[in-house]
Amino acid sequence: MSKEPERAYLSDEFSKMGKEIIDGHADLQFITELGLTIGFLTSNKLKKHDGMAVFADCRKVSEFYKQEFVPFDFLITVYQNTCEFAHFTEKEYRILLYHELLHVGAKQNEKTGEVSMFVRPHDVQEFRTIIDQFGIDWATKGIRPSDSVHAGKFVGELYDEGEDTEEKTGEEDQIQA
Ligand SMILES: [Zn+2]
Repeated sequence: MSKEPERAYLSDEFSKMGKEIIDGHADLQFITELGLTIGFLTSNKLKKHDGMAVFADCRKVSEFYKQEFVPFDFLITVYQNTCEFAHFTEKEYRILLYHELLHVGAKQNEKTGEVSMFVRPHDVQEFRTIIDQFGIDWATKGIRPSDSVHAGKFVGELYDEGEDTEEKTGEEDQIQA
């Protein structure tokens, strides 16, 4: 596959899907209650991290970008070429977005009301709630792994061998898998 420059756009489709998922899950209600804003993007980038093909990621928008440039608290990016290569079904896109939304973390200070935000890491290499709802063996039922899979096994022909595509930014507020 030829190397194209990364282009990412706000996606109406994923925004709509994301809103439905938030509304449909009690464990995501805090997002609405705290008024957190999430931008849903689609990207053409073939993202790879630690030898894993990345389907999507969630990042917290830093205060610096939020003040002028990015009107969201979090950005969820779907790497659509990779998902399409894996023939994601609508159900899989929904699980993927649910997974990414579970990375959204926020805590409200009871005294001051101030909300601090963070990217929540996985609990057991997956989120407990995904396992509870879809089973530990979902991968063998045709539902794919969380938000990344081993690139070598899975998408060898989609990716160049070697280096991760991830820029080494040192950003801590970004979850890759
Ligand atoms: Zn994840």
